[in-house]
Amino acid sequence: MKKIKPHWQMFLALVLAALLGVILRQFDPQFAAPVVETLEFVGKLFMSLLKMIIVPLVVSSVVVGIASLHGVKGFGRLFAKTTGFYALSSLLAIILGLFLVNLIEPGLVDGKPNESIKEAFSQHEASDEAKKKVEAARVRSMAEKSPGDQLKGFFLRMVPANIFQAASSNGQMLGLIFFSICFAIAMTRLPLERVSPLTQVFQALNEVMIVLTNAIMALAPIGVFALIVPVVFTTGGELFVSLGKYFGTVLLALGLHLFVVMPLIIRCLARVSPWAHFKAMKQALLTAFSTASSSATLPITMRCIQEEAGVSKKTASFTLPLGATVNMDGTALYECVAVIFVAQVMGFEMTLTAQFMVVLSALLTSVGVAGIPSASLVAIFVILTNSGIPGAETAVVALLAVDRVLDMSRTAVNVFGDSCAALVVAKSEGENVLSGS
Ligand code: ASP
Repeated sequence: MKKIKPHWQMFLALVLAALLGVILRQFDPQFAAPVVETLEFVGKLFMSLLKMIIVPLVVSSVVVGIASLHGVKGFGRLFAKTTGFYALSSLLAIILGLFLVNLIEPGLVDGKPNESIKEAFSQHEASDEAKKKVEAARVRSMAEKSPGDQLKGFFLRMVPANIFQAASSNGQMLGLIFFSICFAIAMTRLPLERVSPLTQVFQALNEVMIVLTNAIMALAPIGVFALIVPVVFTTGGELFVSLGKYFGTVLLALGLHLFVVMPLIIRCLARVSPWAHFKAMKQALLTAFSTASSSATLPITMRCIQEEAGVSKKTASFTLPLGATVNMDGTALYECVAVIFVAQVMGFEMTLTAQFMVVLSALLTSVGVAGIPSASLVAIFVILTNSGIPGAETAVVALLAVDRVLDMSRTAVNVFGDSCAALVVAKSEGENVLSGS
């Protein structure tokens, strides 16, 4: 029998999981709950498998990538191109979100605040997990009151006082990447014969991590299945109905960015077929969608961009780990739509200056958001409080309750954005990417 291709296996797993989720909802919860709990457990194990390899993978690939640049010069050029692309694509995403949320006005009815959403917000009971997240967000909003503070926060997170602590902070890899870059640059300053044993160690480590990534990928269909069933099973309820227009706005904006803006960018800047790039990245996109974590998806993103799209290790190792941490187009777009939506619901007048500050904050905070599920809700809380929009707490708790589907979608956009940057930078470096297209 012909073997089903891995991405089709994952896609099938997604569809079957959605079906099972819907079927389980028809059953008595007492019967369905143990099934869902078991799958949740398997899903967690799969997420842990992915996360388990991130630290050695990031460190070894960043070190191997930069050490192969033979000096700081090539690094500076790569850094400028990558960060320039990240800033531009995030800004485009935010502007798109801002435009659509002002056009569709999901928080208003006949030009007035939608009272039923406001009521649904205040009636929604916060879960313990939501309470914890809101508390963490409150602490951060105290420290990051203005865009200037947010920028300072970013630099403080970037330079870690303790690299082991940086390595263990969930989804926040900035400190680890910064240390790895410094380490690799220092290696290039030493005579080749002195550092070559070390280079070989990192190279071998990197190759081992690639073998592990491939092994974990073989389990991806099971992981995807186990992650999606609980999402479909628990999703639903009144909040979803009242937030329908908001969902539509977010999904439309994300869809336009993913299927129109980014393809146009890669077509113009890298001169490659966007379709071929989508095909190359399909496993990474499906993993991002299922896990809602761009950090956990990183090993797969690295694999797809090198093995399917033909980007060199040097470019991929620099652009992708950084991108998974600082470049979040979908998140930036979402933050902007969510903040303006809450302002509309609360009847808070957003002047042009206030909207500009939201754009700036969305850009800066999206850089600091960790690549883990629902991380951007913290940033939304920070922006809402700092903009003086009332009801930040009730709104964030309610948005958190219905976040998963939107989170899955924006994470796929985040990962695709990173891969586009890798492609464009690789092409500008003269690499022969997507040679088949
Ligand atoms: N889940 C997103 C990611 O990992 C972050 C977020 O927007 O919450 O990319």
